Amino acid sequence: MATLGNPQNTIEILQKYQFTFAKKFGQNFLIDPHVLERIIAAANVTKDDFVLEIGPGIGTMTQYLAEAAREVVAVEIDDHLIPILSDTLSAYDNVTVLHEDILKVNINGLAQEKNEGKPIKVVANLPYYITTPIIMQLFESHVPLKSVTVMVQKEVAMRMQSVPGSKDYGALSLAVQYYAKPYLAANVPPNCFMPRPNVGSAVITLTCHETPPVQVTDEKLLFRLIRASFNQRRKTLVNGLTNAPELPFTKEQVIAAVESLGKGVTVRGEALTLEEFAALTEYFVKIRTGK
Ligand code: SAM
Repeated sequence: MATLGNPQNTIEILQKYQFTFAKKFGQNFLIDPHVLERIIAAANVTKDDFVLEIGPGIGTMTQYLAEAAREVVAVEIDDHLIPILSDTLSAYDNVTVLHEDILKVNINGLAQEKNEGKPIKVVANLPYYITTPIIMQLFESHVPLKSVTVMVQKEVAMRMQSVPGSKDYGALSLAVQYYAKPYLAANVPPNCFMPRPNVGSAVITLTCHETPPVQVTDEKLLFRLIRASFNQRRKTLVNGLTNAPELPFTKEQVIAAVESLGKGVTVRGEALTLEEFAALTEYFVKIRTGK
Protein backbone atom coordinates (compact mmCIF):
# COMPACT_ATOMS: atom_id res chain seq x y z
CA MET A 1 0.00 0.00 0.00
CA ALA A 2 1.30 3.46 -0.94
CA THR A 3 2.40 5.16 2.28
CA LEU A 4 3.75 8.45 0.96
CA GLY A 5 1.72 11.19 -0.69
CA ASN A 6 0.70 13.01 2.45
CA PRO A 7 2.53 15.74 4.39
CA GLN A 8 3.22 13.72 7.61
CA ASN A 9 4.84 10.69 5.97
CA THR A 10 6.79 12.87 3.56
CA ILE A 11 8.19 14.97 6.42
CA GLU A 12 9.06 11.79 8.32
CA ILE A 13 11.14 10.47 5.41
CA LEU A 14 12.81 13.83 4.82
CA GLN A 15 13.80 14.02 8.50
CA LYS A 16 14.92 10.41 8.73
CA TYR A 17 17.42 11.02 5.92
CA GLN A 18 18.05 14.72 6.74
CA PHE A 19 17.22 15.46 3.13
CA THR A 20 17.50 19.04 1.93
CA PHE A 21 15.80 20.10 -1.31
CA ALA A 22 18.08 20.88 -4.25
CA LYS A 23 16.65 23.86 -6.12
CA LYS A 24 18.86 23.11 -9.13
CA PHE A 25 16.99 19.82 -9.65
CA GLY A 26 13.51 21.39 -9.57
CA GLN A 27 12.45 19.42 -6.49
CA ASN A 28 8.80 19.96 -5.51
CA PHE A 29 7.41 16.74 -4.06
CA LEU A 30 3.73 15.86 -4.25
CA ILE A 31 1.94 15.64 -0.90
CA ASP A 32 -1.69 15.28 -2.01
CA PRO A 33 -3.14 11.77 -2.50
CA HIS A 34 -6.04 13.08 -4.63
CA VAL A 35 -3.63 14.58 -7.14
CA LEU A 36 -1.61 11.35 -7.24
CA GLU A 37 -4.75 9.30 -7.90
CA ARG A 38 -5.75 11.78 -10.58
CA ILE A 39 -2.41 11.39 -12.36
CA ILE A 40 -2.61 7.58 -12.34
CA ALA A 41 -6.19 7.79 -13.67
CA ALA A 42 -5.26 10.34 -16.36
CA ALA A 43 -2.42 8.05 -17.51
CA ASN A 44 -4.85 5.11 -17.46
CA VAL A 45 -2.14 2.88 -16.00
CA THR A 46 -3.05 -0.83 -15.96
CA LYS A 47 -1.31 -4.10 -15.05
CA ASP A 48 -0.38 -4.50 -18.74
CA ASP A 49 1.74 -1.36 -18.72
CA PHE A 50 5.43 -0.71 -18.52
CA VAL A 51 5.85 2.84 -17.17
CA LEU A 52 8.86 5.11 -17.27
CA GLU A 53 8.85 7.64 -14.43
CA ILE A 54 11.12 10.66 -14.68
CA GLY A 55 12.33 12.05 -11.35
CA PRO A 56 10.78 9.85 -8.63
CA GLY A 57 11.98 12.11 -5.76
CA ILE A 58 11.40 10.13 -2.55
CA GLY A 59 9.25 7.62 -4.46
CA THR A 60 5.81 9.04 -3.76
CA MET A 61 4.26 8.62 -7.21
CA THR A 62 6.45 5.56 -7.82
CA GLN A 63 4.53 3.70 -5.10
CA TYR A 64 1.23 4.50 -6.83
CA LEU A 65 2.66 3.51 -10.21
CA ALA A 66 4.10 0.24 -8.86
CA GLU A 67 0.67 -0.73 -7.60
CA ALA A 68 -1.10 0.12 -10.86
CA ALA A 69 1.46 -1.01 -13.49
CA ARG A 70 3.15 -4.26 -14.50
CA GLU A 71 6.62 -2.75 -14.25
CA VAL A 72 8.15 0.66 -13.54
CA VAL A 73 11.57 2.14 -14.24
CA ALA A 74 12.20 5.40 -12.38
CA VAL A 75 15.12 7.61 -13.39
CA GLU A 76 16.52 9.92 -10.69
CA ILE A 77 19.54 12.21 -10.98
CA ASP A 78 20.06 13.21 -7.32
CA ASP A 79 22.57 11.01 -5.39
CA HIS A 80 20.91 11.86 -2.08
CA LEU A 81 17.59 10.34 -3.17
CA ILE A 82 18.95 6.92 -4.15
CA PRO A 83 19.20 5.45 -0.59
CA ILE A 84 15.80 6.95 0.23
CA LEU A 85 14.25 5.26 -2.82
CA SER A 86 15.71 1.86 -1.80
CA ASP A 87 13.90 2.30 1.50
CA THR A 88 10.53 3.66 0.27
CA LEU A 89 10.29 1.21 -2.64
CA SER A 90 11.59 -1.88 -0.81
CA ALA A 91 8.13 -3.47 -0.74
CA TYR A 92 7.84 -3.47 -4.55
CA ASP A 93 9.53 -6.06 -6.77
CA ASN A 94 8.37 -4.48 -10.04
CA VAL A 95 10.34 -1.21 -9.73
CA THR A 96 13.88 -0.44 -10.90
CA VAL A 97 15.54 2.86 -10.02
CA LEU A 98 18.13 4.13 -12.47
CA HIS A 99 20.53 6.69 -11.02
CA GLU A 100 20.93 8.81 -14.18
CA ASP A 101 20.22 12.08 -15.91
CA ILE A 102 17.09 11.36 -17.97
CA LEU A 103 18.55 13.31 -20.90
CA LYS A 104 21.36 10.71 -21.09
CA VAL A 105 19.24 7.57 -20.81
CA ASN A 106 18.75 5.35 -23.88
CA ILE A 107 14.96 5.23 -23.60
CA ASN A 108 14.61 3.38 -26.91
CA GLY A 109 16.82 0.63 -25.44
CA LEU A 110 14.70 0.58 -22.29
CA ALA A 111 11.46 0.23 -24.29
CA GLN A 112 13.10 -2.62 -26.22
CA GLU A 113 14.35 -4.41 -23.11
CA LYS A 114 11.30 -3.92 -20.87
CA ASN A 115 8.42 -3.72 -23.32
CA GLU A 116 9.57 -5.64 -26.42
CA GLY A 117 9.84 -2.33 -28.29
CA LYS A 118 6.11 -1.69 -27.94
CA PRO A 119 4.86 1.80 -27.04
CA ILE A 120 5.46 2.73 -23.40
CA LYS A 121 3.76 5.15 -21.02
CA VAL A 122 5.71 7.97 -19.44
CA VAL A 123 4.39 9.44 -16.21
CA ALA A 124 6.13 12.20 -14.26
CA ASN A 125 5.95 15.20 -12.04
CA LEU A 126 8.61 16.87 -14.13
CA PRO A 127 11.46 19.06 -12.93
CA TYR A 128 10.28 22.38 -14.41
CA TYR A 129 13.76 23.62 -15.37
CA ILE A 130 14.01 21.00 -18.16
CA THR A 131 10.38 20.30 -19.09
CA THR A 132 10.72 21.22 -22.77
CA PRO A 133 14.05 19.42 -23.41
CA ILE A 134 12.66 16.24 -21.83
CA ILE A 135 9.42 16.31 -23.85
CA MET A 136 11.21 17.15 -27.10
CA GLN A 137 13.84 14.46 -26.56
CA LEU A 138 11.14 11.84 -26.00
CA PHE A 139 9.41 12.83 -29.22
CA GLU A 140 12.37 13.63 -31.46
CA SER A 141 14.30 10.47 -30.65
CA HIS A 142 11.23 8.51 -31.77
CA VAL A 143 10.87 6.56 -28.55
CA PRO A 144 7.86 4.22 -29.01
CA LEU A 145 5.33 6.09 -26.89
CA LYS A 146 1.72 5.44 -26.05
CA SER A 147 1.23 8.47 -23.85
CA VAL A 148 3.08 11.02 -21.76
CA THR A 149 1.24 12.18 -18.64
CA VAL A 150 3.12 14.92 -16.89
CA MET A 151 2.84 17.60 -14.26
CA VAL A 152 4.16 20.81 -15.78
CA GLN A 153 3.95 24.53 -15.14
CA LYS A 154 0.39 25.65 -15.93
CA GLU A 155 1.72 28.11 -18.50
CA VAL A 156 3.59 25.32 -20.33
CA ALA A 157 0.43 23.17 -20.38
CA MET A 158 -1.42 26.10 -21.97
CA ARG A 159 1.28 26.44 -24.62
CA MET A 160 1.14 22.73 -25.45
CA GLN A 161 -2.57 22.80 -26.23
CA SER A 162 -2.80 26.25 -27.88
CA VAL A 163 -4.16 26.88 -31.35
CA PRO A 164 -3.19 29.52 -33.99
CA GLY A 165 -4.07 33.08 -33.05
CA SER A 166 -3.78 32.54 -29.31
CA LYS A 167 -1.00 34.31 -27.39
CA ASP A 168 0.33 30.99 -26.06
CA TYR A 169 0.67 29.45 -29.54
CA GLY A 170 4.26 28.71 -30.55
CA ALA A 171 6.90 26.17 -31.50
CA LEU A 172 6.06 23.97 -28.49
CA SER A 173 2.34 23.84 -29.43
CA LEU A 174 3.18 22.74 -32.97
CA ALA A 175 5.81 20.22 -31.93
CA VAL A 176 3.59 18.62 -29.29
CA GLN A 177 0.56 18.53 -31.59
CA TYR A 178 2.59 16.97 -34.41
CA TYR A 179 3.36 14.01 -32.16
CA ALA A 180 0.37 13.85 -29.81
CA LYS A 181 -3.09 14.97 -28.80
CA PRO A 182 -2.93 17.05 -25.61
CA TYR A 183 -5.59 16.91 -22.90
CA LEU A 184 -5.48 19.01 -19.75
CA ALA A 185 -6.42 16.58 -16.98
CA ALA A 186 -6.14 18.78 -13.87
CA ASN A 187 -5.03 22.12 -12.52
CA VAL A 188 -2.89 21.72 -9.41
CA PRO A 189 -2.30 24.56 -6.92
CA PRO A 190 1.08 25.16 -5.18
CA ASN A 191 -0.14 23.82 -1.80
CA CYS A 192 -0.14 20.25 -3.19
CA PHE A 193 3.68 20.28 -3.20
CA MET A 194 6.52 20.47 -0.69
CA PRO A 195 8.14 22.97 -1.02
CA ARG A 196 5.46 25.03 -2.77
CA PRO A 197 6.43 26.17 -6.27
CA ASN A 198 6.00 29.85 -7.18
CA VAL A 199 3.76 28.96 -10.12
CA GLY A 200 0.54 27.07 -10.76
CA SER A 201 0.84 23.56 -12.19
CA ALA A 202 -1.25 21.31 -14.40
CA VAL A 203 -1.38 17.66 -15.36
CA ILE A 204 -1.43 17.19 -19.11
CA THR A 205 -1.83 13.91 -21.00
CA LEU A 206 -0.26 13.71 -24.44
CA THR A 207 -1.74 10.75 -26.28
CA CYS A 208 0.71 9.94 -29.03
CA HIS A 209 -0.45 9.69 -32.65
CA GLU A 210 0.18 6.40 -34.42
CA THR A 211 0.88 8.46 -37.53
CA PRO A 212 1.40 12.24 -37.50
CA PRO A 213 -1.63 14.37 -38.51
CA VAL A 214 0.39 15.81 -41.43
CA GLN A 215 2.81 14.02 -43.75
CA VAL A 216 6.08 15.71 -44.69
CA THR A 217 9.03 14.51 -46.75
CA ASP A 218 11.55 16.18 -44.42
CA GLU A 219 10.59 16.29 -40.74
CA LYS A 220 13.79 18.11 -39.75
CA LEU A 221 13.02 20.91 -42.19
CA LEU A 222 9.46 21.20 -40.81
CA PHE A 223 10.86 21.80 -37.32
CA ARG A 224 13.54 24.19 -38.57
CA LEU A 225 10.82 26.25 -40.25
CA ILE A 226 8.68 26.21 -37.11
CA ARG A 227 11.57 27.27 -34.88
CA ALA A 228 12.68 30.03 -37.28
CA SER A 229 9.11 31.38 -37.49
CA PHE A 230 8.80 31.78 -33.74
CA ASN A 231 12.39 32.80 -32.95
CA GLN A 232 11.53 36.29 -34.08
CA ARG A 233 7.91 36.36 -33.04
CA ARG A 234 7.32 40.03 -33.81
CA LYS A 235 8.65 39.72 -37.35
CA THR A 236 6.70 38.60 -40.39
CA LEU A 237 7.06 35.00 -41.48
CA VAL A 238 9.01 36.15 -44.56
CA ASN A 239 11.59 38.00 -42.43
CA GLY A 240 11.79 35.21 -39.83
CA LEU A 241 12.54 32.58 -42.47
CA THR A 242 14.88 34.80 -44.52
CA ASN A 243 16.95 35.78 -41.44
CA ALA A 244 17.30 32.26 -40.07
CA PRO A 245 20.94 31.15 -40.50
CA GLU A 246 19.97 27.45 -40.58
CA LEU A 247 17.70 27.95 -43.63
CA PRO A 248 19.37 28.22 -47.05
CA PHE A 249 16.55 29.95 -48.99
CA THR A 250 16.68 33.37 -50.67
CA LYS A 251 14.18 36.11 -49.86
CA GLU A 252 12.53 35.60 -53.26
CA GLN A 253 12.11 31.89 -52.60
CA VAL A 254 10.68 32.58 -49.14
CA ILE A 255 8.21 35.14 -50.53
CA ALA A 256 7.07 32.69 -53.20
CA ALA A 257 6.66 29.94 -50.59
CA VAL A 258 4.64 32.16 -48.24
CA GLU A 259 2.50 33.44 -51.16
CA SER A 260 1.73 29.83 -52.09
CA LEU A 261 -0.22 29.59 -48.81
CA GLY A 262 -2.57 32.34 -50.05
CA LYS A 263 -2.20 34.33 -46.83
CA GLY A 264 -0.33 37.43 -48.04
CA VAL A 265 3.35 38.21 -47.47
CA THR A 266 2.82 40.10 -44.20
CA VAL A 267 1.50 37.03 -42.36
CA ARG A 268 3.23 36.03 -39.11
CA GLY A 269 4.19 32.51 -38.11
CA GLU A 270 1.71 32.57 -35.23
CA ALA A 271 -1.18 32.59 -37.74
CA LEU A 272 -0.14 29.32 -39.43
CA THR A 273 -1.61 25.91 -38.66
CA LEU A 274 0.43 22.70 -38.58
CA GLU A 275 -1.04 21.83 -42.00
CA GLU A 276 0.24 25.15 -43.40
CA PHE A 277 3.71 24.57 -41.96
CA ALA A 278 3.63 21.14 -43.63
CA ALA A 279 2.63 22.74 -46.97
CA LEU A 280 5.47 25.24 -46.60
CA THR A 281 7.90 22.38 -45.93
CA GLU A 282 6.83 20.55 -49.10
CA TYR A 283 7.19 23.79 -51.12
CA PHE A 284 10.80 24.21 -49.92
CA VAL A 285 11.57 20.51 -50.50
CA LYS A 286 10.50 21.02 -54.13
CA ILE A 287 12.74 24.11 -54.46
CA ARG A 288 15.66 22.16 -53.01
CA THR A 289 15.23 19.17 -55.26
CA GLY A 290 14.42 21.35 -58.29
CA LYS A 291 11.17 19.46 -58.98
N1 SAM B 1 8.07 12.48 -8.48
C1 SAM B 1 8.36 13.18 -7.23
C2 SAM B 1 7.07 13.72 -6.66
O1 SAM B 1 6.14 13.91 -7.43
O2 SAM B 1 7.01 13.96 -5.46
C3 SAM B 1 9.39 14.30 -7.43
C4 SAM B 1 9.10 15.30 -8.52
S1 SAM B 1 10.20 16.68 -8.53
C5 SAM B 1 9.18 17.90 -9.28
C6 SAM B 1 11.34 16.35 -9.88
C7 SAM B 1 12.32 15.20 -9.64
O3 SAM B 1 13.14 15.07 -10.80
C8 SAM B 1 13.27 15.40 -8.49
O4 SAM B 1 13.36 14.22 -7.73
C9 SAM B 1 14.62 15.70 -9.14
O5 SAM B 1 15.74 15.35 -8.36
C10 SAM B 1 14.50 14.88 -10.42
N2 SAM B 1 15.34 15.34 -11.55
C11 SAM B 1 15.72 16.61 -11.85
N3 SAM B 1 16.46 16.65 -12.97
C12 SAM B 1 16.54 15.36 -13.41
C13 SAM B 1 17.19 14.75 -14.53
N4 SAM B 1 17.89 15.47 -15.42
N5 SAM B 1 17.11 13.41 -14.66
C14 SAM B 1 16.40 12.66 -13.76
N6 SAM B 1 15.77 13.19 -12.68
C15 SAM B 1 15.84 14.51 -12.51
